[in-house]
Amino acid sequence: MQASKLPGQGASIFTVMSALSNQYKAINLSQGFPEFNPHPALIDCVNRAMRDGLNQYSPMAGQPSLREVLASRQNHWGRAFAIDPDKHITIVPGATAGLFSIFQSLVMSGDEVVLFDPSYDCYAPSVVLAGGVPVRLALNVDGSYPFEALKNSINSKTKMVVVNTPHNPLGLVFDQSAWITLSEVLADTDILVLSDEVYEHMVFDDSEHISVLQIPDLAHRAVAVSSFGKTFHATGWKLGYITAPEHLTQEIRKVYQFLAFAANTPMQIAAAEFLTSYPNYEESVSVLMQGKRDLFVNALQSSRFRLMPCQGAYFQIADYSDISDMPDQAFAVHLIETIGVATIPVSAFYLNPPQEQRWLRFCFAKNDETLLKSAELLCQL
Ligand code: PMP
Ligand code: GLN
Repeated sequence: MQASKLPGQGASIFTVMSALSNQYKAINLSQGFPEFNPHPALIDCVNRAMRDGLNQYSPMAGQPSLREVLASRQNHWGRAFAIDPDKHITIVPGATAGLFSIFQSLVMSGDEVVLFDPSYDCYAPSVVLAGGVPVRLALNVDGSYPFEALKNSINSKTKMVVVNTPHNPLGLVFDQSAWITLSEVLADTDILVLSDEVYEHMVFDDSEHISVLQIPDLAHRAVAVSSFGKTFHATGWKLGYITAPEHLTQEIRKVYQFLAFAANTPMQIAAAEFLTSYPNYEESVSVLMQGKRDLFVNALQSSRFRLMPCQGAYFQIADYSDISDMPDQAFAVHLIETIGVATIPVSAFYLNPPQEQRWLRFCFAKNDETLLKSAELLCQL
């Protein structure tokens, strides 16, 4: 028998639920992906780049034109140090590959990496494959961070703390006071902070996205991960980028050059051209997604689901304990089979799921008719 590097690891919950959704021809609000296309001008830019013959390898760190526009954007938004396109930005084939390169390059054998559950599914296995040890701390019931537990868990082996804002699956943002507290907890250490910011351009109401790179006491030992899959409604394009200080970027690139070498060229050229032509594009993403959240939440008003606050990303958490006491995995399957709506059971994001929790995650990055149709079905429960 072949030994396994990830014993006990099955197909991801996103693969499982989307497959079940397809099998039952259900409305798929499970795996997070938009139902609509990227901006038509962006698609034109990709087509043009391909026709213009820009179909060969990009430089390892990414197309200079794209890194320049991203550096200028970030400097405009405000960062604790001036972002240099050559020293600080690396384009990668999606955030998943970016995260993998970061763990492989910065985590040494036996290093501990603190993850907060519920946590996105690729973190823990990627840490393990890097020879690290995931230390999983549960978020408080209100979604705030357990800073006391973090303080107590820190020891000489602690290498990195992973934060995700806006958060998948909870839809919560890490605010200024949370960043300040994290800075205080890490003050006398050289622990790195990895901030997964793939939903950075989806923040609602009075909430604000604050990047780790805006925090003076953390930015010099931080790595931020972004994804065009989210920002451009193009999850299938697999394009993202890493922003980090020079000494960390150098180490990440050493590994990344052997993971993929470079991300795909026509989409990088197109992204640069599109962002240059639409300097305020990112703001439109929050407006669009907030409208979708509001439509979905309003349509569920008469249901028996209790909806949790959603400050960002494109996920709504709903407590179904007034409808059923089934565990969430079973209830999610039950919903596909009975009313034809697919969701994600939130227990999948935990090492030790809270036994009493009855939460499902709905992705609302869908066409309005889809959201209304699914809400109508959910209101019948
Ligand atoms: N981090 C989080 C929190 C995500 O939700 C996702 C994808 N949905 C990723 C990383 C991976 O992004 P990508 O598709 O660009 O690999
Ligand atoms: N990030 C997406 C989600 O949370 C899924 C991406 C994937 O399937 N790997 O639904």
